[in-house]
Amino acid sequence: MAKIHEKIRNARRDFLHKLSRYIVNNYDYISFENLNIRELVQNSSLAKFILDAGWGTLITFATYKAVMAGARVVRVDPSYTTQDCSVCGFRVPKTLAERLHECPECGAVMDRDYNASVNILRKGLTHLTGGRVGATRTYACGEGGKPSLKQESPCGSSGWDTVPYRKLLP
Ligand SMILES: [Zn+2]
Repeated sequence: MAKIHEKIRNARRDFLHKLSRYIVNNYDYISFENLNIRELVQNSSLAKFILDAGWGTLITFATYKAVMAGARVVRVDPSYTTQDCSVCGFRVPKTLAERLHECPECGAVMDRDYNASVNILRKGLTHLTGGRVGATRTYACGEGGKPSLKQESPCGSSGWDTVPYRKLLP
């Protein structure tokens, strides 16, 4: 039994290493939500899921790999990244079960995680550059980016959103 647990743990770490390597190799600028993992785990019914996903470990791996590669990592305030409309800024409250962002103000409809990732990236860019154009390849991922051991391509169409930086700015 202990051996099985160790095998799972190793597979998970291996996946997180590969995923963080992929992110750092492909993006110069990486924006993460600054989630308080400890607090989330203590107060959340999602505790087991959050720990299983290795979210904190992924951020740690990506950060030190980015430092070595000269990429930049920013952690941003996670408040309202899921709720705010990434198109017009209108706040659209959602339950965790709602997977779609539908804005009654501007009519934008998109995946909840995609909407959040655009907001996280924008917050990160504002934080880093004061809004000036700088990076060319960027990666943003929020609570929706749940690593799965089954994924073959970490940033494909399975919950990870890659957002070309230039498409985000007018
Ligand atoms: Zn809107």
